Amino acid sequence: GDFLEEIDTLIVGSGPGGYVAAIRAAQLGQKVTIVEKEKSLGGVCLNVGCIPSKALIHAGHQANQMKNSNDIGIIADNVNVDFSKVQEWKQSVVKKLTGGVESLMKGNKVEVIKGEAYFSDDKTVRVTKDEYTTQTYKFNNCIIATGSRPNELPNVKWSERVISSTEALALNEIPKRLVVIGGGYIGIELGTAYANFGTEVVILESEKQILLGFEKQLSAPVSTGLKKKRNVEVLTHASIQSVEEQEERIIVTAEINGDTKTFNSNYVLVTAGRKPNTDKIGLEQTGVELDDKGLIKVDDQCKTSIDHLYAIGDVIAGPALAHKASYEGKVAAEAINGEPAKLDYIAIPSIVFSDPELASVGYTEKEAKEDGFDVNISNFSMAANGRALSLNESDGFLKLVTRKEDDLVLGAQIVGPSASEMIAELGFAIEVGMTAEDIALTIHAHPTMSEAAMEAAEIAIGTPIHAV
Ligand code: FAD
Repeated sequence: GDFLEEIDTLIVGSGPGGYVAAIRAAQLGQKVTIVEKEKSLGGVCLNVGCIPSKALIHAGHQANQMKNSNDIGIIADNVNVDFSKVQEWKQSVVKKLTGGVESLMKGNKVEVIKGEAYFSDDKTVRVTKDEYTTQTYKFNNCIIATGSRPNELPNVKWSERVISSTEALALNEIPKRLVVIGGGYIGIELGTAYANFGTEVVILESEKQILLGFEKQLSAPVSTGLKKKRNVEVLTHASIQSVEEQEERIIVTAEINGDTKTFNSNYVLVTAGRKPNTDKIGLEQTGVELDDKGLIKVDDQCKTSIDHLYAIGDVIAGPALAHKASYEGKVAAEAINGEPAKLDYIAIPSIVFSDPELASVGYTEKEAKEDGFDVNISNFSMAANGRALSLNESDGFLKLVTRKEDDLVLGAQIVGPSASEMIAELGFAIEVGMTAEDIALTIHAHPTMSEAAMEAAEIAIGTPIHAV
């Protein structure tokens, strides 16, 4: 049956955007209800994104490390992977975290409704709970956090074996051969993970380089690591002609620099961007404005064109990242309370959990120059970092971008082990407006990867110790 209930703050979607917004809104005294169509809370990130991918990447990395430890005296020639056990472990990690979100909702007195929301107008939402039950709710304020889904290519249809990241994370076997269409971070991360498990991987990227959002200087070591250490074929300028399915195998035909090549594969993973979930939720009945990509237009408080409707995360512009969604969730929740919260993306990091890892925050050299800054570039090689060498992983460097006139930290890029962790220090430096001298004067423990930040900062101010 259909009946009416009143809600104060409604949040649609429980991903890292929605659930974080719910908690902050509750902390501020709002009465919060969150609607989620899936059984499990946490959105793409916890269920089929960040977390399971990092678990799979870690397991693959472990297997690969063991297989390749001969040069440090560890002989483990016969490394076996029990993939169903890997999957079980990965799911247990997901379950801990989604269960954690469930408890956080309870703890913050956020009401959770499991069902699919559809806007009837800008004040009303209809929730389909199952085949037989729908319920209508009125709300005062709403945060739209419905996230995104994998983009299907027009000439490559999904099937049992032509899969998106969601299915690639849940395979019950290690494919013998895998073709990855798309060399963005998701394709590279999952391609690396399966290559580490022993799959023969081919990566087909349409652009001139993989990981296009990153400088060539950063993506090159990743490319080399894939080719030289994992026998992965990384092919750029590849245009997909056809994907033809036969029984147990798939033939992918691509044109690469004028040559037509075919690839024989057991699975094809398509990672060609993501599509915002803004098309099937009744938004047209709310008056909320979208841009030409279907993203919801918002102001610097995440407010849409309708005063009491907000939108956060993958449904709005900017990089589709979990920490961006969460940050916006907090801003939107505070804005509803009338607080002067305002979006500021100056220090938002982006990371690729490749091997070696990539991380970037703030300005790149090119962006800084384009914005008219006179910059200083300081590179410190991991080959001169004791910790990197003792980890037997010294490929990489830390690049610091500072403003020439006063050494203000504008940005940083890192390639190497733990780049994902190290980038936090540089983000912090940018956020509080530190100069290279501030970093150089901070005592960094030895031997650590993070000494590379101090070393690069010393280069910036002309007093390097371990570089000439
Ligand atoms: P989502 O996480 O997509 O959540 C939206 C939620 O809304 C979903 O639970 C959905 O079921 C629900 N929903 C949708 N429509 C309705 C409706 N009508 N009614 C009710 N509920 C609805 N980001 C990182 O920062 N780091 C990473 O390492 C990383 N790795 C990734 C790996 C993969 C394989 C993928 C696919 C993504 C990865 N991301 C990563 C991106 C990250 O997952 C997203 O940016 C993030 O989840 C976006 O959060 P969100 O809250 O906007 O939406």
